[in-house]
Amino acid sequence: MQKLFLAVLAIFIFSNMMAQDIYIHAGKLIDTKNGKVLTGKTIIVSRERIKSVEDGFVDPASEKDSLIDLKEKIVLPGLTDMHVHMESESNPAEYLNRFTNNQVDNAFNSVGFARKTLMAGFTTVRDLGGSGVNIALRDAINKGKIEGPRIYTAGKSLATTGGHADPTNGMNDEMMGNPGPKEGVVNSPEDARKAVRQRYKNGADLIKITATGGVLSVAKSSSNPQFFKEEIEEIVKTAKDYGFHVAAHAHGDKGMQRAVRAGVKTIEHGTLMSEETMELMKEFDAYMVPTITAGKEVTENSEIEGYYPELVVPKAKEIGPKIQNTFAKAYKKGVPIVFGTDAGVFKHGENAREFGYMVEAGMPAMEAIQSATVTPAKILKMESELGQIDPGFLADIIAVDEDPTQNIETLKNVRFVMKEGKVYKTE
Ligand SMILES: [Zn+2]
Repeated sequence: MQKLFLAVLAIFIFSNMMAQDIYIHAGKLIDTKNGKVLTGKTIIVSRERIKSVEDGFVDPASEKDSLIDLKEKIVLPGLTDMHVHMESESNPAEYLNRFTNNQVDNAFNSVGFARKTLMAGFTTVRDLGGSGVNIALRDAINKGKIEGPRIYTAGKSLATTGGHADPTNGMNDEMMGNPGPKEGVVNSPEDARKAVRQRYKNGADLIKITATGGVLSVAKSSSNPQFFKEEIEEIVKTAKDYGFHVAAHAHGDKGMQRAVRAGVKTIEHGTLMSEETMELMKEFDAYMVPTITAGKEVTENSEIEGYYPELVVPKAKEIGPKIQNTFAKAYKKGVPIVFGTDAGVFKHGENAREFGYMVEAGMPAMEAIQSATVTPAKILKMESELGQIDPGFLADIIAVDEDPTQNIETLKNVRFVMKEGKVYKTE
């Protein structure tokens, strides 16, 4: 019996030693950690991780190994979008969908959105709010049942009554009901605590709050503060016990300041951010998630008759055009920036549009790439596993035709996608 065991063990060890590695010949390689473009490298991938990065083009060591030729390409780590909504995608019927769609419909839709996102080179995303289907989606992707990016999800986001993420805004009395912490609506520090713990129970990875009014909700104000300081403080404090960071949607300055002072990690949009708040962001090490693409998109759609409900149109016209300018100012002032688009407000898979807008607003291309690789890894506490092509890191690797530090738009056409050592897209 013991002999048999030893024999099986030997076979196991031997087959592990012989496990096939993937050799990737990279014409150029973006070193996101040091902000450099390297030339002629071989990345050796073993199972889900990067084993080593060698100078020049190294031939596979064994016949079992395989070779991927990206000598004509520019290779970089998989990208991260820190603000997406995987359950939905904007269209004029979206508001009606709230009444006609069941969660299972959203679930089937999200499968396609997840796939598009991955094929666009985004191997990691942070989902900032849906019905909770986004939690099941994350699990299905992790189990390999469907193709999609690695998801960190907030589940259902938190709002106050009538606030930006109150799920029954704009409905008739009967349908409006009285949603509470379970549904993500809080009106006291006690509610706040319960809502965070409910998210933990549901399986969320982080907490999202709507600290001010928003554009697409059926409510009047785009930017009024919607949480008291004590409520946000209680959310941040409770979230800490579960290892959650807190993301805060905010257009208006007052609600934004409350959120930053209470210790949220990221401010989403940040549209009407004052210079004082920019200084606060630096002081509190809070990151701005620009979502310029969403700003451009809602501005355009607000011109289309009937695209948005009447209450939404003036808000879209007011807020949409301001986002890129605020980003430009915040960047110049040294506010920490992390890449995020609000995909779902526009088409999934078009996430890379954001890079062009960031560069247009004055951010160097390399910094824009770092804001979508090494910076999000830090916020997600994955800085030794994501955002770099270096030994020990997860093998999330993409490739494009041109050097993105010379032409950032090339990121819109990702030619090769590998996630955790598995190839999903190749020319
Ligand atoms: Zn959003």
